[in-house]
Amino acid sequence: MVVAGKALRQPARAHLSNRSDNKVTVSIIAFQAGYSGGRGFTSRQRDPLPQDTSSDKPGAHHLAHRRAQPPHHKARCRLKPPTRRRGATFGFMLYFAFQFSILITMTDALDAATILNFDPDALRAKYRRERDKRIRVDGNQQYLGIEGDFSNYIDDPYAETLESRTALTDAVDVVIIGGGFGGLISGARLKEAGIKSVRIIEKGSDFGGTWYWNRYPGAACDTESYVYLPLCDELGIVPTEKYAQGPEIFAHSQNIARHYDLYQNACLQTQVTGMHWDENLRRWQIETDRGDAMRARFVIMSNGPLNRPKLPGIPGIEQFKGHTFHTSRWDYDYTGGTSNGDLEHLRDQRVGIIGTGASAVQCIPHLGAAAKALYVFQRTPSSIDVRANRPTDPDWERTLTKGWQKARMENFNALTSGRIVEEDLVMDGWTEIIRNLISMANYRGKGIDPAEIPGLMELADFQKMQQIRARVDDLVDDPITAEALKPYYRQFCKRPCFHDSYLQTFNRASVNLIDTQGQGVAGMTETGVVALGKTYDLDCVIFATGFEVGTEYTRRAGYDLTGTEGLTLSKKWAQGVRTLHGLHSRGFPNVFFMSTAQSGFTTSFPHAMDESAQHMTYIIDRCLSEGIADIQPSQAAEDAWVAEIVQLSRISESFQAECTPGYYNNEGQPNPRSSQNSSYGKGPIPFFSRMKAWREEGSMVGLDCRS
Ligand SMILES: Cc1cc2nc3c(=O)[nH]c(=O)nc-3n(C[C@H](O)[C@H](O)[C@H](O)COP(=O)(O)OP(=O)(O)OC[C@H]3O[C@@H](n4cnc5c(N)ncnc54)[C@H](O)[C@@H]3O)c2cc1C
Repeated sequence: MVVAGKALRQPARAHLSNRSDNKVTVSIIAFQAGYSGGRGFTSRQRDPLPQDTSSDKPGAHHLAHRRAQPPHHKARCRLKPPTRRRGATFGFMLYFAFQFSILITMTDALDAATILNFDPDALRAKYRRERDKRIRVDGNQQYLGIEGDFSNYIDDPYAETLESRTALTDAVDVVIIGGGFGGLISGARLKEAGIKSVRIIEKGSDFGGTWYWNRYPGAACDTESYVYLPLCDELGIVPTEKYAQGPEIFAHSQNIARHYDLYQNACLQTQVTGMHWDENLRRWQIETDRGDAMRARFVIMSNGPLNRPKLPGIPGIEQFKGHTFHTSRWDYDYTGGTSNGDLEHLRDQRVGIIGTGASAVQCIPHLGAAAKALYVFQRTPSSIDVRANRPTDPDWERTLTKGWQKARMENFNALTSGRIVEEDLVMDGWTEIIRNLISMANYRGKGIDPAEIPGLMELADFQKMQQIRARVDDLVDDPITAEALKPYYRQFCKRPCFHDSYLQTFNRASVNLIDTQGQGVAGMTETGVVALGKTYDLDCVIFATGFEVGTEYTRRAGYDLTGTEGLTLSKKWAQGVRTLHGLHSRGFPNVFFMSTAQSGFTTSFPHAMDESAQHMTYIIDRCLSEGIADIQPSQAAEDAWVAEIVQLSRISESFQAECTPGYYNNEGQPNPRSSQNSSYGKGPIPFFSRMKAWREEGSMVGLDCRS
């Protein structure tokens, strides 16, 4: 255990140089990198979460000109035999071989500084030891469901009053569940297509989703805001900073809703509690906690990938007499201050924070600056790279012309999903890892056998993580604390973090890193938190423990669906997600899932969601204009898609198995269900192309349609 004593600074490790002047870059596959706080922290569980059925990892698709639609074929949906695909792994190897060979012919200088200054075998062994320390038999069941005594952790602390309204029994064309970016983009694309009868149902009291709920101090996007904030071009705005702060992103959500007139007809402060298919009416009936029983022809489920906070199942958690809350429901009444910090009520408080994931990394600098004493309970350190935020350059802004955002999104997506592009427009920590691969290739200066690619990618990853670890030594004074803050796993095993003052916070005398050496905290008492045999007395404990990911989809959504012949979604997906394209599931006509399970995945989520939104809009538009009453995937098409997803998931199987436990690899327990629930294994660009080709073909292959 490290309680940060302040000792002499250790000399910085030698840095590995990364050539960043290349105009041509290549990237590794973007292994699913989602957002969460810390992980679980106990060896016993109480009220364990039901096991995984659907991994709703953040999703993917690609931009297509939605109004540039293909001619509508007269033929209604028909089923074609599924296309035979070539072996995924082989295709993947060839793909990288191709990328590298182009790269090597286009880059000339050998970069001698890329000579390895580490022993790959020793690092590999170290990574395994660190992973093994964290493997637990209880996997996802280590977390507590937030219900019963804990349900106050998901109450809405931001809505001052519940506005009264009469229960609705009306009918609309499209109901969208969820008012986050996914719901907003869907609403926007539908409105652009001239589909006006749209209703968004959202349990928060305003739009924003993630950015409505997560208002902790320091909250900001981690992917570049020019890429991340959706519909900037359409709204004619440019974010004010390279990485916008939470309040700006929240306000942007409201601007989208106003721009597309989505407040009109919306049901805010309304939680969907269930929905069932009425076969006579061919409509969905949607029930809510406001007594509504409204009908909709189509339903888009955009409940969010990280919507349901989770708590570690720490023994004694209910005994603690001090104050507690979850980062996604920040209690400013207790802490004082604002999203900019200055948490003045904490000046005489001993504060503990459990978890060191993305949310914790952003709020810990503010807690460290304010609290009398801060105790950071760590199971696994995050990888913390340079953020280098800066205000938007007005000169650059003036150069932007229509279409700038689409071009930038595509550039970023290409770089983070394995494509060579002429230029790196974003030039940040996400795209920088790619330069390690370039350095590697430059150093070798010759063609690469496809069989060598995984090994080279691993070396580039080692190199990048060496750089991340060297940065810890540079910034953290105490060598023991520094060592405890170093991540020993491959970069995309966990969502990488970017921050310029997180690590330095541990140089404050009042800030203590409690490194539990992979074990997590052992318990809570009336007065504090127990870790590695010692009790830390605290006034307040903040749970930065992230969100449910591997639990049942319907549990995370907060409602079940009853489709044709009484089939419920929870039953159908009990052994894993079953869809066509991640969007449709047989037995649930006219329902669209905005999810990454069995769909594409992009590092910047809204990109994928926009692709999905455009695809759904295309289908809904076709149905409305051609008198198609309902659509659902044929059994054969769905079965073929599921089989393909499972087969492709083998691409990342060994990578996932080697990773430190987390929600990407089902808490260190990858299994057939988590493979089935994964996203499209060839990456987002092939997935988007496939969806585009499907639209262009025009016959809605694989969907059964009824008029
Ligand atoms: C702190 C944080 C930072 C992040 N930063 C980034 C980033 O930099 N880049 C990135 O790409 N991604 C980031 N993400 C991921 C982020 O979740 C997505 O980018 C995106 O905002 C998800 O949008 P969504 O609409 O799918 O889901 P959400 O934003 O979660 O919206 C879903 C909405 O559905 C509502 N809802 C759920 N169930 C019901 C129900 N039964 N009835 C009514 N309403 C319901 C919820 O209240 C919620 O508002 C971050 C996530 C977090 C938590």
